[in-house]
Amino acid sequence: MANEANTKLKPLKQLGFRLNLVLLSVLSFYVLTTGYSLFTLREQSQEFEALSNSYFDRAMHAAELSREAEVIASDTLVNMLNQSYDDKYIQTPTIGLPEQNKNIVNNVSFERSFEDIRQQLTANTPHEQALIDKIDRLKKPYFDTIRILNNYLIEKRNITQLQRNIESRLLSLQKKIYLLPQTTEHQKNLVDELIKTINLSVLTLHSTTFNQLITQMNSISSLISNMSYQDNLTSSEWQNISLISKLSKQVFNTTLKRQMQLSATLIAVNKTRMEAKKLSNACYDLYVLLKQSTQKASSAHKAFISKVMLKIGLFSVIFLLLTGIAYWFIHHYLIRRLNRLNSVMLEHVEGIKTNIPQSGNDEIAMMGKAFSIFVEATNKAQQDSLEAQQRTEEANQKLTQLNQSLQQLSHTDELTQMANRRHFFHELTNIWQLACEKQISISIIMLDLDWFKNFNDYYGHQAGDKCLFQVAQLILAEVKSTQGIAARYGGEEFIILLPYFDLDRAMVFAKKLQSKLYEEEIEHHKSPKKYITLSQGITSHIPKEGDKFDHLIHLADQALYRAKNNGRDQIIAQANEEYAPLRTLPSPSDSL
Ligand code: GH3
Ligand code: MG
Ligand code: MG
Repeated sequence: MANEANTKLKPLKQLGFRLNLVLLSVLSFYVLTTGYSLFTLREQSQEFEALSNSYFDRAMHAAELSREAEVIASDTLVNMLNQSYDDKYIQTPTIGLPEQNKNIVNNVSFERSFEDIRQQLTANTPHEQALIDKIDRLKKPYFDTIRILNNYLIEKRNITQLQRNIESRLLSLQKKIYLLPQTTEHQKNLVDELIKTINLSVLTLHSTTFNQLITQMNSISSLISNMSYQDNLTSSEWQNISLISKLSKQVFNTTLKRQMQLSATLIAVNKTRMEAKKLSNACYDLYVLLKQSTQKASSAHKAFISKVMLKIGLFSVIFLLLTGIAYWFIHHYLIRRLNRLNSVMLEHVEGIKTNIPQSGNDEIAMMGKAFSIFVEATNKAQQDSLEAQQRTEEANQKLTQLNQSLQQLSHTDELTQMANRRHFFHELTNIWQLACEKQISISIIMLDLDWFKNFNDYYGHQAGDKCLFQVAQLILAEVKSTQGIAARYGGEEFIILLPYFDLDRAMVFAKKLQSKLYEEEIEHHKSPKKYITLSQGITSHIPKEGDKFDHLIHLADQALYRAKNNGRDQIIAQANEEYAPLRTLPSPSDSL
């Protein structure tokens, strides 16, 4: 039944189930929290990866800038070299390209592509900003030098073009001079001089140093001077000399200009290279800085992730361990003991006296102790109650006995131990009622001891009492076999009620009683009969509604009175006046 009581509890009402629910909720909450933390960590990691990529992109942009600056510089130089190459080997302009744009450095597109990359760079720290500012500062002089260099290249192109025109004109003049008449020695010498001057002029046009130019120009001047001072020069000869002189001046000017422009270009190239180097260095510094920050941030993030993961793992292990301990503790120290205490309590309720668990110092142990005290108190109360019940039962028994004896006393005549007059009338009332209903014949016998005063006087009162008792027992013995009742009517008088007895049968009864008394032979010296005798008056009647038993008693009393008057020791039957005449039964002693 104890287990039944446990299983009767709905699962939701069971403490163990509820505590398990609480533990499960805590565990679920932890799993959710941890899951959410891991999810957040993963998102953070992804965000950081994106950030790291942006850092890396920035570093790559810086690297690109660095490369771009150098590429622009080197492209510019390549263009320059190409132009020199063209100068040497390509004597005619390239067909299909606008002459003006040929060999011009495309600095605008360089600058734009550089600027595009630059715009993608953003600073996250003051240091980075300082480096970007430095790049911005350096890029202007760099592109300025590129622009200057470009202008020099355009200028050089123009000079080269001019140089080619002069050279072409010199060569045309040379062809023309070869066609001059060389019949005379003078003519031959002049032609030689003219050709020599033209050749020297062409050579001078390609001279690379200023000294070479001056030396060759001096030679040209002396050749022209020698030719000019000759006599008998024809006008055409003079014209040719003048033309050569004019062309030689152009050769000098153009060559001088080309040499000076070359020097300026070289200076500009050096400056461009220097600016390119500065810009490239600044870009490289930024690249290194960004790369370092990227690496630093990446390793810091990795360390952070590892640390957080380690902490989560550690917390998880500790939490699971604590949950396990809490589960074990709750079941071992609470649920198991509470169930045991509950079973024991229910067993006690069923009356099985099992040991009450009381070990420990906690609340459950105190509950066990309290229940133990309660059980002891209950047992004691039960014991007390049993004892009290026993005492009550004993008292009740005594009381019943007392009541019985009291009742007996109230119904019984003390001396004769037969019914008293009151009880007799009580019984008579009931029987009378029954006789009325059932039409039963009832007989009444009134009895009186004869000359009893004399007996008392002679034998003493005590002897009188003893005699009365003896006669009473005799009457009772006879009445016992009937359904009647005998009572002491007063003094030495008795009365007998005999239901179902008619007058004849009552007479028989009275006679038998008389005989029995005779058999007793109670000595009475003061009686003429010498023994105790009885006078009896009998009457009988079937009562009907309205009849009174007093009248029947009165009739019996009358019969008794007559028996006394007739001489005592005799039976007189007094029938109801309406039905039967008086009948007297003589005493046996008389008949004797
Ligand atoms: P009778 O034949 O006419 O009846 O004469 P009797 O003497 O019996 O009647 P009486 O009425 O003169 O006297 C009755 C006597 O019965 C008187 C009394 O002494 C005696 N008596 C009455 N009650 C008791 C009693 O309880 N004990 C004793 N010992 N005697 C009693
Ligand atoms: Mg009397
Ligand atoms: Mg008498």
